[in-house]
Amino acid sequence: MRKPFIAANWKMHKNVAESVDFVNQIKGQLPDPAKVEVGIAPQAFALYSMAQAAGKSGLKIIAQNAAAEYNGPFTGELSLRGLRDLGTDYVMLGHIERRRLFGEDNETVNRKVNAALQMGITPIICTDETMVQKEVNGEIHYVFQQLMSVLRGVSLDQIRNVVISYEPSWAVGAGQHANVALAEEGCRTIRRTIADNYTYEIADKIRILYGGSVNPDNIKELMAKSDIDGVLIGRASLDVDNFLKMVNYM
Ligand code: PGA
Repeated sequence: MRKPFIAANWKMHKNVAESVDFVNQIKGQLPDPAKVEVGIAPQAFALYSMAQAAGKSGLKIIAQNAAAEYNGPFTGELSLRGLRDLGTDYVMLGHIERRRLFGEDNETVNRKVNAALQMGITPIICTDETMVQKEVNGEIHYVFQQLMSVLRGVSLDQIRNVVISYEPSWAVGAGQHANVALAEEGCRTIRRTIADNYTYEIADKIRILYGGSVNPDNIKELMAKSDIDGVLIGRASLDVDNFLKMVNYM
């Protein structure tokens, strides 16, 4: 069984005091960590205080981005080494806003994915690609080429430790209701792509999240789909009441 994973992406919102205050408010009301995993990606400067505030609550701390390089002359970048020292559990890589607004391409995301795996921080690999048709052994398959390019060099052993999120561009920040059927189809196609390129056993175990306009009204329907193992929530995760409704969706 794949453990459901509800992850909040706070983007460039909340300062340290607001982030810590949020954690203190939700701490006692999180679902049983053995049944549902919950994580928050605050701004980088709040990671340490959030991790302290989370204590033993089971809340996972997620970084929104990191550099591929270990250290060196990379002004303004955030190292995976530093994130590991802070006790960061996950790092989001290749989010659509990083691609759209900061020009990150597949090659950069691929280097970051490999660096995070080497550093022992689990990547949440964000893919926003629409599927393309490809002929494989005379059959038409729908494939995610973006996903396979960012997974280049990731071994059979390493892929087990990866979380993938499917965030189609039409849904992220759109504020409209997510199209549940398309969300599920995207996640299912990603699973099939992993089965084709790795193994069925791995595809069966790997967690695939959906992201884009998730809110308290649609989370239950999304989570009921067998190929959607969790969600990545932007806007709706900023409010304590909404957040608590969503993590306790069951
Ligand atoms: P949204 O953002 O929920 O505001 O659409 C999702 C995301 O960017 O991860």
